[in-house]
Amino acid sequence: MYTYRSEAPQSDAIVVFGVTGDLVHKEIFPAIYGLFRDEGVSVPVIGVARSDWTQEQLTARARESVEARGMRIDEQVFARLAQNLHYVRGDYGAPETYEKMCDVLEGTGSPLFYMAIPPSVFPVVTESLAASGCSLNSRVLVEKPFGRDLRSAIELNTTLRKHYPEDAIFRIDHFLGKEPVQNITYTRFANPLLEPIWNREHVRSIQITMAENFGVKERGSFYEEAGAIRDVIQNHLLQLLAVVTMDPPGGGIPDAYRDEKARLLMAVRPLEPKNLVRGQYVGYRQADGVAQDSTVETFAAMKLTIDNWRWAGVPVYIRSGKQMAVTCTEVFIELRRPPRETFGEKVDTSSGHVRIRISPDIVIALGLRVKVPGDRMVGRDAELLVTSTPTNVQPTYQRLLSDAMDGVQELFAREDGVEASWRIVEPILGDRVPVEWYEPGSWGPPSARRLIGKDGPWIDPVVVPVTPPDDCVPPLAGVRRREPRG
Ligand code: NDP
Repeated sequence: MYTYRSEAPQSDAIVVFGVTGDLVHKEIFPAIYGLFRDEGVSVPVIGVARSDWTQEQLTARARESVEARGMRIDEQVFARLAQNLHYVRGDYGAPETYEKMCDVLEGTGSPLFYMAIPPSVFPVVTESLAASGCSLNSRVLVEKPFGRDLRSAIELNTTLRKHYPEDAIFRIDHFLGKEPVQNITYTRFANPLLEPIWNREHVRSIQITMAENFGVKERGSFYEEAGAIRDVIQNHLLQLLAVVTMDPPGGGIPDAYRDEKARLLMAVRPLEPKNLVRGQYVGYRQADGVAQDSTVETFAAMKLTIDNWRWAGVPVYIRSGKQMAVTCTEVFIELRRPPRETFGEKVDTSSGHVRIRISPDIVIALGLRVKVPGDRMVGRDAELLVTSTPTNVQPTYQRLLSDAMDGVQELFAREDGVEASWRIVEPILGDRVPVEWYEPGSWGPPSARRLIGKDGPWIDPVVVPVTPPDDCVPPLAGVRRREPRG
């Protein structure tokens, strides 16, 4: 067991800065409600923001966001949440805001501070919290982006580390909390079948695709500051790569899981421009908040090299884009074919593989050749489904919030891993590689095909409709129940 837990006690209050914002509405209120419903949590929940809201407005907002998430409201549970909800209005830099917050925290001993605010506001809140005197024994949860390049990531970590030890800082990369991502770790290290082939001897290439069949919608101005590389590759997809390719965590070593992920990311060679293709979908510049002459990439494809023994010579390709043909995130581990095709067939290099789908459904499948019935030794491609489920069993934010309250760190990004990921993409950030157009509904610009060349082709995920998610079935097997806390 490699679970790493800090020594501090369970959090006994949740303080959400930026409680009026989009993330709280979409994810955090449903997660808090889920904790009250499924895990018996009953702690003060204090929302802090500048908006002139009343207590009633906050409660109504909480209800609205739980309903918008498609969760059925259990009125008894919601009443318990409503009794615990408090709104503190004030400026993020004003000492009075923190005095009011500390008054509400009276009687608690180890609060969890959730920074659901724009990154520019982190430093003032962190400093003001430290000065307030009621952040002793606390934990702090921060959202991505963890900086926008290596330098700003280091600055952010320095600000946080000035007031918090690393084991009190929880950096959310929600990909790490996804059930299928944890299933990768489990399936890899719990099966004698897989580990012996998980290396350069048997793996020909690795592909990771994160495709979305929609554009930037109303988030144009946000996306102009990010682009595909900063938005999803530096964080989600490099973390996913680390989970897929890291060495097994050793027993008895505190934080071994995150050690191994960080070690892997440090072994990835920083990108060179020749190994990157950047694309922009036709029509992006017409979206609200997007500059007429924007050169921000909505698609990126890259070839990575892992400089260690296990993966020497195995090319790794990552691509991500908006307005693609489908919405899907998938890892495709292509296995080497036998040294010769015994039956004289012409067989695709991708026939033997391990396919891991993260979304929209969860799949782990093994690609094999099987004989077609009859008198000829002719085969066809088949897939053995190791697991296939429609969706996450437990909403990701609920799982992560629960872990943070318990001080369990392994599903959160660590300082060294974050900085290692920035080192990989740092040389190609900005306009060093020009963007190329691609048509909506395609798989990106033609140069992406040239990039993969003879290591390809790209394996384009095929998506069939799945049962819609059902977050409403509590409690689920494997979900912990806590003792109700008052
Ligand atoms: P919002 O832009 O909705 O901001 C949250 C709240 O912060 C606002 O309601 C506002 O509250 C306050 N705020 C906004 N701008 C400022 C400012 N310039 N100065 C002081 N306060 C401000 O952000 P989100 O909720 O979308 O995101 C919160 C955090 O989570 C960010 O770090 C974001 O990058 C991250 N994130 C968001 C995701 C999402 O889907 N929304 C996904 C992943 C990460 P008030 O004015 O009432 O004080």
